[in-house]
Amino acid sequence: PKSNIASFLLDSARDFPNHEAIDFLGRRYTYKELLRQCRKLANALKELNINKGDRVAIMLPNCPQAVIAYYGGLMAGAVIVQTNPTYTERELHLQLADSGAIALITLDLLMPRVSKARENTALKDVIITTLSDGLPFPKNILYPIKRRREYPNLKVKYSKSEGNHRWSSVIRQSKDTPICEEVDADTGLAMIQYTGGTTGQPKGVMLTHANLLANAVQVSGWFYRMELGKERYLAALPLFHVFGLTVLLNQTIFQAGTLLLVPRFDPKLVLETIRRRRPTVFPGAPTMYIALLNHPETQEDDLGSIKVCVSGAAPLPRDVQEKFEQKSGGKLIEGYGMTETSPVTHCNPIWNFRKPGTIGVPLPDTDVRIVGEDNLEPLPIGEIGELAIKGPQVMSGYWNRPEETAAALKEGWLRTGDLGTMDEDGFFTIIDRKKDIILAGGYNVYPREIEEVLFDHPAVKEASVLGVPDQYRGETVKAYIVLKDGWQVSDMQLDRWCRDRLAAYKVPKQYEFRTSLPLSLIGKVLRRKLKEELETKEE
Ligand code: ATP
Ligand code: MG
Repeated sequence: PKSNIASFLLDSARDFPNHEAIDFLGRRYTYKELLRQCRKLANALKELNINKGDRVAIMLPNCPQAVIAYYGGLMAGAVIVQTNPTYTERELHLQLADSGAIALITLDLLMPRVSKARENTALKDVIITTLSDGLPFPKNILYPIKRRREYPNLKVKYSKSEGNHRWSSVIRQSKDTPICEEVDADTGLAMIQYTGGTTGQPKGVMLTHANLLANAVQVSGWFYRMELGKERYLAALPLFHVFGLTVLLNQTIFQAGTLLLVPRFDPKLVLETIRRRRPTVFPGAPTMYIALLNHPETQEDDLGSIKVCVSGAAPLPRDVQEKFEQKSGGKLIEGYGMTETSPVTHCNPIWNFRKPGTIGVPLPDTDVRIVGEDNLEPLPIGEIGELAIKGPQVMSGYWNRPEETAAALKEGWLRTGDLGTMDEDGFFTIIDRKKDIILAGGYNVYPREIEEVLFDHPAVKEASVLGVPDQYRGETVKAYIVLKDGWQVSDMQLDRWCRDRLAAYKVPKQYEFRTSLPLSLIGKVLRRKLKEELETKEE
């Protein structure tokens, strides 16, 4: 069968042409207008001789152009490569070179980095949008702002011969004639989506149109009480990350909802958007819910319009779930997924029986097993093993990495690298990543269990636990702690707290107090960065 994930947009624009598709800080796009802009971009890409299967990279924070670039690129038949707008030159270069992108859509502020990163890559054309493309883009909340010093006098050279094109002229000059390349749904790639890079160098995941179609439909089915054409989705998760991409972007467009775009998760800006537009759905990462709950400006009724929140990417602490539900009167449920599975594979039921602390049950059409090291036979109920997944959302492989593909995918089963258990009701619990297990004095220690105990301490805002080398025990447990404002606590006090709640071999032997922890853009603590710091210190 042939299809294209951009058909979601065609359907919604046909059935709800004047419905609002995007609100970006007050600038609104109807479905009709959004479709028109996407078609213009798709036709412009064709003019630039970009064809089916060619890779087109996008490097943008959340903004309407990011949506237009995504669906416009897909309509042209291109394979989309999302890059993170905070990437350094080096990181961007690696991704451009690895994916073989021949075009890039980005923001003028990012051009100093792009100009250097593009050297020795296949990149031919860069379409550059600016803050002034009719957008009320508040300068002080842009992603790249912390690198502002880099651009004392930014001057972008627009010239066709150098392949630098102005977004506004490209859109103005291009025709809005219908265009939507039909792609082989099962084998045709829609995206090369890079993994989070939590455990190592990000890997390019090949996602087909069928993968993305399946996951958007699976997720939408899970939300079944949502009304077509009625819901407003708070889009604070980055759209360049796979979670935001499916659960926000594709789902909203599929359901003909309204995407309330914020350029990044800034609690004040998010609160303003919530008050102004009263979102009904708010997918997020745990850190976002924590930040909103703790923000001094959050008023009693601010969260009252929110019906459903889905939390993923990292474990959701129970008290955060309880408090957020109390304050909003809506549901906050935990799910699970990874880039390799488009991403969602598990979720707690929203409206029915759920189990806090678990990631819920597999989505429809998804098979999950807990398996051991040697084969794919399911382990008995309750036993700890690796999660393996089979379903229509599972990637076709890693781009340019046949060995890693062969190691991860066997007989249609994907090994996730995450350890977990399944209970008698079919609910799954994530224990930790296989790579992060600490082997202390012959015992397996799971950092997440210790982090949860620390997190329960009233003074602790964030906690991350690592294994550090130890002469006698092989590895020993070290905890990194961020305290809540105005709180003080000593390592002795935390030690007592942990001893009351954990077996001795799990209790951290070292503490380090910090003002912040290295976070990924969707708020995952990057244990790898902490490990790297330790290693460089030792050298
Ligand atoms: P890399 O694969 O490059 O190391 P990454 O695994 O962090 O990076 P993603 O694909 O963005 O990149 O993240 C998927 C991972 O996130 C899962 O494998 C799992 O470890 C973690 N994760 C997702 N949801 C949850 C959850 N609800 N609870 C615990 N962990 C989760
Ligand atoms: Mg991973």
